[in-house]
Amino acid sequence: MDFQAVNSPYLVPYQGGQTVSDLSTIPPDGQGGKKKNKSVRKDLVSELYELQRVLYADDRYSVLLIFQAMDAGGKDSTIRSVLTGVNPAGFQVYSFKVPSAEELDHDFLWRTSKRLPERGRIGVFNRSYYEEVLVVRVHTGILDGQKLPSVPDDLTGFWQERYNSILDHEEHLAKNGTIILKFWLNVSKQEQKNRFLSRLDKPEKHWKFSVGDVKERMYWDSYMHAYQEMINATSRPWAPWYAIPADDKPYMRKTVAELIVQNLRALDIAYPTVDPEEKARFDEMRQLLTGE
Ligand code: ATP
Ligand code: MG
Repeated sequence: MDFQAVNSPYLVPYQGGQTVSDLSTIPPDGQGGKKKNKSVRKDLVSELYELQRVLYADDRYSVLLIFQAMDAGGKDSTIRSVLTGVNPAGFQVYSFKVPSAEELDHDFLWRTSKRLPERGRIGVFNRSYYEEVLVVRVHTGILDGQKLPSVPDDLTGFWQERYNSILDHEEHLAKNGTIILKFWLNVSKQEQKNRFLSRLDKPEKHWKFSVGDVKERMYWDSYMHAYQEMINATSRPWAPWYAIPADDKPYMRKTVAELIVQNLRALDIAYPTVDPEEKARFDEMRQLLTGE
């Protein structure tokens, strides 16, 4: 495998063993706040614009960015702020909601596979096949609607099989030129509450409020358990999980932008060079054009 993810304090170890309660939801001392992080992020986004152009010209790799988070974790705004400035033709964002009847008529990797980015492009998944080991693990009743031939009573091995499907899938994609970076925006329970309250208080945020989100919050501990199992089972050098502190939005956005840029900088991409024979013809063409 050519691609190896860059290291970071937020990289989930490949051998597992990460405890979710040990992961910070806030920036390191002195690194939070808007002013500095916003301007650093803007510089990074400009660099991302350039990198995407080279990625496109090079035409061998595609980039898949996967975002998972609890409700109000900041997926949408992070995606927006990191990709604002990149050529709109260079990336595509897909949000995966509750699967449709058509989607349930296929295996669980089908709907996302259809949305994978082409070479040269950045594809963003706002939620993904990882919901299959998150919300489905928390609410196992969902499995009854998935039309699976059989579901065992003891689900321990079942989740491992889903991880294995995902690991195989990601390894296959990586071997064929997809750079996969996965971000868990790790928001604290307290901060989620603050954001829900702000949605209730501010009329311009009412549309973002959903009664279901508050109900889902009651399953917080089950979700944290599912996240812990998931990140430990599925972080790999070619498809790493980064667990990003998400309580401070400007810091979170900067950190995500930084990790994307650092990973793309390390890629062996370049504008294609023109061979000397072809280049010799450029002069001919220039003369032809100027002599018109
Ligand atoms: P926002 O609320 O910011 O618009 P969202 O991603 O939360 O964005 P919603 O429509 O509120 O969008 O929620 C999507 C819901 O779909 C989530 O509760 C998620 O858990 C659920 N979901 C996604 N994938 C699956 C899946 N494979 N099986 C069951 N539920 C899923
Ligand atoms: Mg929602």
